[in-house]
Amino acid sequence: MISIFDDRFPVWYTIIFIALAFVLGAVIGSFLNVVIIRAPRHEPISGAHNRSHCMSCGHQLNALDLVPIFSYIFLGGKCRYCREKISPRYWIVELVTAISFTLSIMTLGLSVSLLMSFVLIAALVVASGTDIDTMEIPYGCSLTIAGLGVIATIMSVFTGDMPWYDHLIGAVGAAIPFAILAMFGAMGGGDLQIMAASGLLLGWRNIIPAAAIGIILGAIGGSIELLTVPKGTKKRAKEKSLEIAEKWYAEQRENGISVLPGKTEALYGSIFKGKSDIEKECVDEKCWEGTHDIDSLNEALSNELSDISKFAVSIVIEEEKVKKVTCKRQVVFGPYLSIGIIAAYLIGDKIIAWYLSLM
Ligand SMILES: [Zn+2]
Repeated sequence: MISIFDDRFPVWYTIIFIALAFVLGAVIGSFLNVVIIRAPRHEPISGAHNRSHCMSCGHQLNALDLVPIFSYIFLGGKCRYCREKISPRYWIVELVTAISFTLSIMTLGLSVSLLMSFVLIAALVVASGTDIDTMEIPYGCSLTIAGLGVIATIMSVFTGDMPWYDHLIGAVGAAIPFAILAMFGAMGGGDLQIMAASGLLLGWRNIIPAAAIGIILGAIGGSIELLTVPKGTKKRAKEKSLEIAEKWYAEQRENGISVLPGKTEALYGSIFKGKSDIEKECVDEKCWEGTHDIDSLNEALSNELSDISKFAVSIVIEEEKVKKVTCKRQVVFGPYLSIGIIAAYLIGDKIIAWYLSLM
């Protein structure tokens, strides 16, 4: 690694390196905006028929309107053609990516790790943006980080910065506690995947501060979010879900479909922005007599709870009846975990040293 603060360089070299990283981050961030919006809809990322346009008036945007970060500032956050407000999210994504790239070059210098950090940041920005939008982390983000993890594991054989198996221990060590958290509904499957992939990349030592930072920030952020939910929402969501689940299960039983004697079925899913998604993948077919109709359950929940923004739902069913329904507020953990992961990638050793100095 060559530090950009090295004495061999004149100061203006350092300034140019920092400026380049910032501009590169802003440009990449502008591209990631498109990925965040189009990826969950499975739309093509590029293509001439998909030229950027104003979301309100539909006016096609030219180069001047598309300068990352700066266009938004110079246009005062409004469309140049219809003066309608532009969502600050595009600007925020560009700025976050630009700042992250800058911090990376300042800590990692000119190195392979720097290139890897750019890819890591891009994957984490997309993971966070999509998680906020859809409450799901795209598989591709975790896969990208896992790919970086494989590269880091192979590299460590040659560089000897840590034993190669530390990476593997990191992956398994992160997967186990996050799998347990996922089982209790505190985290999602996407959180688990991204933490396991990051464990492979960071190794077991640095995945610890990554997870700690992510969980602490998530707890703080989640509590603040909780204050914005109207009182009684949780109670109503629970009562309504129970009522709907009971009615649904009664209908299933009338059609000869039921949970087998002695078995317990637990259906899991979420209600997000008024849309219920009890996951079919989680249904244990061995528990059932006949083919259940989860779609109609989702439909009924969506209709009745259309004002609910973010809840994890579980419905426990036994042969005779719906035994229990729980509704939990769900925190979107992706952005918090991402902050932890990138912080640990850049300064994990310093965080650990600082923490140990407190003891
Ligand atoms: Zn417009």
